[in-house]
Parts: sequence; structure tokens; C-alpha cells
Amino acid sequence: MKELIFATNNLHKLRELQEIVSNFHIVSLQDIGYIDDIPEEQDTIEGNALQKARTIFEFTGKDCFADDTGLEIEALNGAPGVYSARFAGENATYQENVILALHKMQGQKNRKAVFKTVIALILDKKEYLFEGRIDGEILVTPRGNNGFGYDPIFLPSGYDLSFAEMSAELKNSISHRGLATQKLVAYLRNNA
Ligand code: IMP
Repeated sequence: MKELIFATNNLHKLRELQEIVSNFHIVSLQDIGYIDDIPEEQDTIEGNALQKARTIFEFTGKDCFADDTGLEIEALNGAPGVYSARFAGENATYQENVILALHKMQGQKNRKAVFKTVIALILDKKEYLFEGRIDGEILVTPRGNNGFGYDPIFLPSGYDLSFAEMSAELKNSISHRGLATQKLVAYLRNNA
């Protein structure tokens, strides 16, 4: 079976992919002995996903993919975007980031936001991008205890539940990352 490296240190994401992709042997950074941080210095989500995949390709010369996600809030000119993980500072907690987003959105009428994930795949030396996005709005007060990150303040369009009030199954079936992953998986299934 062909080997494919997932350029992530998130074991939860890795396991999820291993369960749904059956025609590739998905391995982790740990499996290939890559212990450094992967640089994410670009100012777009696509750019960061590509930079991560290229870093690992240059290190190994092997097929690989990487993902990057951001929350873009319209009234904040697309912030936090690529800075979603470190909106409130370099080692900010999820809660600190949520509090800052709510603070910046105080009194804002336009609460539109979009979650976006880009997966960059390098297969047989060619690059492919798969994008998943979901529109929604930023709640005034956090709701729900499931999920992580900005889930308690993101209300997806067409639903009465925040991401943090949804089951993991429902969230994954409609989410930015779920949709990008479905596109990657469909491509891999047809291109073994
Ligand atoms: P990453 O690129 O997957 O590491 O995501 C960057 C940051 O975006 C995370 O640290 C979270 O703050 C946020 N984020 C990513 N995915 C989600 C999600 O599904 N729900 C809420 N926040 C998310």
C-alpha cells in the first residue's frame, strides 16, 4: 500500500483520517522522525497549508499533505484568519481567543463569519488544494461545551445550534474541516 504522510502533530486528526482512507497507509510526523515545528509564516490559509506540505516534502521526498484552518470574521476584515490559534497572543488559550473575538465584536451588527480549511496534498510531486468552508455568524454569548476553539461562538447558517452544542458527528458532517477532508478522501479513493 502507498504511504502518505499527514503533516500534523494532532493525533486526533491523524486517527480520523486513518479510519476513512483505506487505500493509503497514513503515517504521522512522529512515524517519520520529524520533531521540529513546521513553519507557518504565510498570510493566507492556503499559503500555510502549502508551506507545511512543502516543508515535509523537502524533508522526506515523499507524498504528504497538511491542513490549515482559520475563522474569518467579516466585520474584523477577515481576522483572526491565519492567526486564529494565536489571536490573543503566542500561547493563548481557546478561551482567551474567544474572549478577544467577543470583545472586538461588541456592538457589531454585522456578525457574519466563515470557517475555512485548506488541505494541501503533494502526490507524485504534484500539488493539489482542497478547500472546505462553512458560513455562519458570531454569537453574542458563548453556547455549548463540545468541540474546541471558537466552537461556542460560531452559529453555522441554517442551524439553531452552535458548533459547541452539536454532536461531533453532526459538526464533522457539515464543518469546514469535514468538507475539505471529504474532498481529499474522494480524490485519494480515485487516485491510488
Ligand atoms: P488549525 O490550523 O487546525 O491548527 O486551526 C487553527 C486554529 O483555528 C485553532 O487553534 C482553533 O483556534 C481554530 N479552529 C480550527 N478548527 C476549528 C473548529 O473546528 N472549531 C473551532 N475552532 C477551530
